[in-house]
Amino acid sequence: MRCLRCNRELEAGQKSVALYLFAQTVGIKPRQKSTAHRISFCPQCSVSLAMGPPPEGALNLAAWDMIRDLVGSDPALNQAAWENLSGILGLLPATGTDGGPRQGQSTGYFEF
Ligand SMILES: [Zn+2]
Repeated sequence: MRCLRCNRELEAGQKSVALYLFAQTVGIKPRQKSTAHRISFCPQCSVSLAMGPPPEGALNLAAWDMIRDLVGSDPALNQAAWENLSGILGLLPATGTDGGPRQGQSTGYFEF
């Protein structure tokens, strides 16, 4: 599993937000049901999305609402995002003087 937004790998049991999506016919016989898709977001992206402006598209908006609901109702998800973030910061060198410029980290902002 990977985070849909940042493509970070999410190992089994790792903290994340999962969205399950399936389609089903209503009022049509025989009733049909698509396979269920699981979409995952890491805690940082979940919090970042929830704090950010509403996305475009009705389906995106529906998912954003659900994530906001989770982020807004309990601080546990924020805490998980904070733990991940401080874990990453802990891995960085104390000074910026060892080695050259870091590769692949030129942008300091999140892309939606
Ligand atoms: Zn992510």
